[in-house]
Formats: sequence, C-alpha cells, structure tokens
Amino acid sequence: MTTILQHYQQLHERSAQLAEQARSHFPSGITHDARYSPVFPLYVERSAGSHKWDADENELIDYVTGHGALLLGHGHPAVVAAVQAQMTRGTHLGAEHALALRWASLVQELFPSMERVRFTASGTEATMLALRLARAFTGRPIVIRFFGHYHGWHDLLARDSAEDEPAGVPAALRESTLVLPADPDVLAATLAARDDIAAVILEPTGASYGMVPFADSQLRAIREMTAAHGVLLICDEVVTGFRVAPGGAQQRADIRPDLTTLAKILAGGLPGGAVGGRATIMHHLDFGDGAWNKQHKIRHNGTFNANPLSAAAGVAILEQIRDGVAGEHALDMANQLIAGLNEVLRVRRLHGWAAYGDGSIFHLIVGSSVAFEPGILPNMLPAAELKQGGNQRILASLRLALINRGIDFMRGRSGFLSLAHTPVDIAATIAAFDAALGDLAVEGL
Ligand code: PLP
Repeated sequence: MTTILQHYQQLHERSAQLAEQARSHFPSGITHDARYSPVFPLYVERSAGSHKWDADENELIDYVTGHGALLLGHGHPAVVAAVQAQMTRGTHLGAEHALALRWASLVQELFPSMERVRFTASGTEATMLALRLARAFTGRPIVIRFFGHYHGWHDLLARDSAEDEPAGVPAALRESTLVLPADPDVLAATLAARDDIAAVILEPTGASYGMVPFADSQLRAIREMTAAHGVLLICDEVVTGFRVAPGGAQQRADIRPDLTTLAKILAGGLPGGAVGGRATIMHHLDFGDGAWNKQHKIRHNGTFNANPLSAAAGVAILEQIRDGVAGEHALDMANQLIAGLNEVLRVRRLHGWAAYGDGSIFHLIVGSSVAFEPGILPNMLPAAELKQGGNQRILASLRLALINRGIDFMRGRSGFLSLAHTPVDIAATIAAFDAALGDLAVEGL
C-alpha cells in the first residue's frame, strides 16, 4: 500500500529536488512562512484561471489564488494586457503619473471613507503607516489589536497574544500594543478605563479573514464605541477589500472607519498597498510650514509607492470588479463549495469537522477537540482552536492528500474563490475532498 506521504513524494520528484537545492539558499528552504512544509513545499511553474501546474506537470485547482489577491483568477486578460502595455511605457518613472490618479479615484469611488489615499508597496507597509498616522493624529501611544488578527509581519504588531514575546522585538514596542480578545464588551471596558489609546486595528470579518468569525453587528458596535471615546478605528481590509463587497467589509456592515488599509486585490496580483481615511488624519502626510513639518508631518517615502506596473494592474482589476459581478460569482462558488464539503462531512459522519466561511473565502476545521455535529460550526469554539484549525496531524495529512488529488487549499484548510472558479472546479474539489478523506481513513486518521 502506498501511503499519502509516499504518493506525495512520487508525484513531486522535481519539487523535492528544487526544495533540496533551496535549503542552501533560504532559511528552511522557503520564501514565505505559509509555505513551510515538514516534507517539502510544492514548486509551481505556471497558472491560468483557477488552475496551476507544478514543476512535475501535475495540474491543481488553486484556492490560494495569489494569497487572495486574484479575484479575477490567474492571468485575467485585462490585467495581463494592462501590465504588458505599461511595461513598454516604463516600470518606474521616478515621477508622479496619471495612472496613480485613476487608481486612487477607483479606490475612493468604492471606499468613500478614504478621503485621501497614500499608496505603499505592501499591506504590511500600509498598516505600519496607519499606526503612525493614528498616533500622530491622536497624540496617544497605545494601539489595541485583537487576538489572532493579522496585519503584516512588522515589529509594531508582531505580538499576537498578550503573553507573546516575539523574538527580536524590543519590550517597548511590544508594550505599545494591547492584545485583547475580539470581544466588544472587553473592548468597552478597556476604552472606559484608559485614555492612552490611539486606535483599534482589526480584520473586519474576524481573525485571518474570517477563520474566527466576527459578525457585522460586532463591527458596528466597535465603530460606535471607538467613536464615542475619540479612538480611531483602523479597518484592515487587505484581504476583505473589494472581495466581501466592492467597497469591502465596511460597505457591507455600513460603517465608516477612520482609516482603512488595502493591498492584494488593490494591485491586481502585483505588489502594492494603500492607506486612506479622513482627510484630517491623512493631513499628517501633508507638507506645511516649518513648524508643522518638524512636529507633525509624517515623513513617508518608498521607492515603489504607486509604481506604474502595480497601478496598471490595479486599475485593470478594479475596473472589472467595481460592479460587484466578479465578487458575487466568487461568493456563489464559495457557498457551493462550503455546502458540498459539509455534505461530505455529514455522509462520513465526521464529528468535530466543518467547512465555513465569509465573503468568498472558506475555512475548514478538522478533528476538533469539541465533537460538534458534522458541518455545523458551533458558536462556542475557542478562537485559538479556530485559528489552529483542529487536529494538526490530520490537517498535515489532509493537505498532502488533497494536493495528491489535485487540490491546493491554503495551508490545507482555507481558500479564496475567484471569477475564474467554475461549478466544474467545485464539483471536482468536493469529489477530491471525499477521496482524500478516504485516503486518511485508510491510514487510520
Ligand atoms: N493585513 C492582513 C489582513 C493580511 O492578511 C495581510 C497579509 O496577508 C497583511 C495585512 C499584510 O500584507 P502584505 O503581505 O502585503 O504585507
């Protein structure tokens, strides 16, 4: 009998060779922590629509979808054409250019809360700048973040829980953030007790794009209480922006944050980010007189801010998605997929397993320590359990078994749907999931 692991090794000899070479180039042989694999990561050579092909020519249905950036799928003709055309005009003009204006006006049309915009090179940079703006505007030092919410890898938000002491981050920086459970009542008590809070930053659909679900009503409650205390609300829509609705989770929940951060879909699959919000806050990026520049202006450079290639891709994608049709299709595909996966779990009577999601993103929890009804995620699961996704041993095997059967879920348990995903993809994925569970059962998992 061939095990899941042996099958993975047989199917991916070229990936294994490349991964071996990579060990002498990259720490752990990888370029992004999410790609870490105790076996070896997959090497992918090309992509089109909702599919990609690995270095051994295995075809996969892709749910990583550019870490959520490719709402139109891989290689959408409008994006490809726009980037190709811009390549010939110039990749870095060392000057302001009109395309950035078009890009900003599309962003502002969809996100009216972004009265002024500053482009950055990544989502990480966008949240860094948002925190600097919040502190400059309020004159207060502390930022509240929620357990498990991710806002990029920088020092300012490296602390993921109250006990976390991330290596290389000085204590003073750790202490400049307060990590709370994502609970409006806890936040209310904290805001009532302290007067040193500059801002609350959050992922508006919950930690890790909804892995730990968060209701629009909770978001609205937080908007109200932050406003009442003069504390800024920073809505990190790096993932949810343009996806949950054309105007992001803030449009769906009908809230107006003080600052918003964007990336991923914003730049159509190329590098790019943005921060925007109330003009009075963004004013801290403006030049003024000598005293203002010295005391209040935030200095912000960045070689690749609003770079022409990202602007071209960004304009192309936003023009395609602004009517909401692409997002609705992706949502429809996600809902079909979630329903199909849960049906498989019910038939197989897998207690403690469920597929769930929000805004064309799905997640799995597998073999949870809480034996809930198959396919029905209970409200009371702890956030840490949802973030982990259940039993790690099962999850690791499931990830390989799914890849063996031509399905690439992000970290083996999440995925982003796109305009390019079809009902045929969904049916094939559900069948492959069922078969992968069969493979796990054979191994006693
Ligand atoms: N904010 C959120 C919600 C994210 O999910 C991410 C990345 O996944 C970031 C910020 C950081 O963005 P980037 O990877 O472009 O630096």
